[in-house]
Amino acid sequence: MTEHDIEIPLEDFFDALRAANSQRNATEFDPQARLGLDFMVNELGGEVGELQNVLKKLHREARDIPGSRARPGDLEGELADVVIVADLVALKARLPTLDFRVTVTPHDTLTMGIMLNSACGHVSKIALNIWEADAHEHLWMWLCTITEIVYAIARHFGLLSIENLVVRKFNATSRKLNFKTFMELTSTGDRH
Ligand SMILES: [Mg+2]
Repeated sequence: MTEHDIEIPLEDFFDALRAANSQRNATEFDPQARLGLDFMVNELGGEVGELQNVLKKLHREARDIPGSRARPGDLEGELADVVIVADLVALKARLPTLDFRVTVTPHDTLTMGIMLNSACGHVSKIALNIWEADAHEHLWMWLCTITEIVYAIARHFGLLSIENLVVRKFNATSRKLNFKTFMELTSTGDRH
């Protein structure tokens, strides 16, 4: 936790993420609604893979094994990407905002990477069979599980809070693309 790390209730954070994602998607990323659930689920798989790639490199780094390396700070943007896109999947499927319904038991980082990939596999399988009974409920549960694993990884590495990492990444993307939608975290009425 740093002096720049704002804490807000998790529920408020997920509401703020949905509002920002919803606005940016509808007005800037995809105003004609050409992208569907299939696109978002592919994007989620891509982001989970990018995160796993960093976890792999960190494992090498810690054991001095040859190959490309990474630092824990390299995880920050990738962790944020996964949460942002998990919410976009939920948005496309008209699901409620993310929440924690599952408490992930901490494991070593490689196992958490595999758990993340496995949860993403469930999301993919459900997306392929979205018309099935209870599909939406299960999809939401797996998206929440993915989010909780991301939080567990951030905790493991002692990184800045996911809330702050998400805001930073969301706004960096908007700046890069010259968009006007920005996300803010507010705490006790103070603007950050
Ligand atoms: Mg990424």
